[in-house]
Amino acid sequence: MILGGLQKFSLADYPGKTCAILFTRGCNFRCPYCHNPELVWPERYTQKISMENTLAFLENRRGLLDAVTVTGGEPCLQPDLPDLLVKLKRMGFAVKLDTNGSFPEKLWDVIVGGLVDYVAMDIKAPLAKYARVSAVDLPVEPIRASIALLLEGRVDYEFRTTVDCELLDEEDLLAIGEDIRGARKYYLQKLNAYDAKGVNPALRTQDSDWLQDVALKLGVFVEHCSVR
Ligand code: SF4
Repeated sequence: MILGGLQKFSLADYPGKTCAILFTRGCNFRCPYCHNPELVWPERYTQKISMENTLAFLENRRGLLDAVTVTGGEPCLQPDLPDLLVKLKRMGFAVKLDTNGSFPEKLWDVIVGGLVDYVAMDIKAPLAKYARVSAVDLPVEPIRASIALLLEGRVDYEFRTTVDCELLDEEDLLAIGEDIRGARKYYLQKLNAYDAKGVNPALRTQDSDWLQDVALKLGVFVEHCSVR
C-alpha cells in the first residue's frame, strides 16, 4: 500500500460523518481536470507517507472521528487494499471508498467482505465515449460491471461526474443517466479549474443554472440527482 497523502479531518467527504481521508498513490486514468496529479503522474509523485504513522494517528482518533475515506489516485490498484480496510474496520471506523470503477472484482471483494460502508464511483463520461475523459485506451466493460454491482444495492453508494463543459455536454450527461438508470444518488460536480492543480489550466467552470437544469432532467433516470 502506497499512501501519498493524509487529510486529518473533513466534514465534507463522507455523507453525514466526520472523517479522515487517505490518498493512495497511482491511477490508471489520466483525466485532464485531475485535482491530484501528484498521485497520478509518476514524474509528479511526492514523497509517500508512512502507513505506520497514519495508522497510529487513526488509532488516536478512535471515538473522535466517525469514518475514514480511502481515495486516490485509484485505491483499487493497491494489492493490499483489503488489508488496510480490515484494519480501519477493526478500529471501528465507517469506511468510504472512492473509485473510478475499473476494478469490479476488487470492488466485489470489499463489498461482500463487509469492508466498506459507502462507495463513491466516478462516472467519467457516457460508456460509449469513456476514453474522451479518462484519456486512456482501456475497455469499458469493467466500468459497466462496477455500475451493475453498485446498482444491486449491497452497499450504500453514489455515482458522480465531474462536469467539464469542454468534454461533456447535456446529451452526454443524459446518456450517463441512461447508463446508470435506477441509481439511488447521482451528483454532478462543478469543475473549478481555477482551484485545481490540474494538468489543463485552460479548463473553465460551467454555468450553474445550466447544470441545475441538467440535474433536473436526470431525475428521470435516478432517484436523486443534484449539483455540488
Ligand atoms: S480517476 Fe481520479 S485520480 Fe485518476 S486521473 Fe481521473 S480524476 Fe485523477
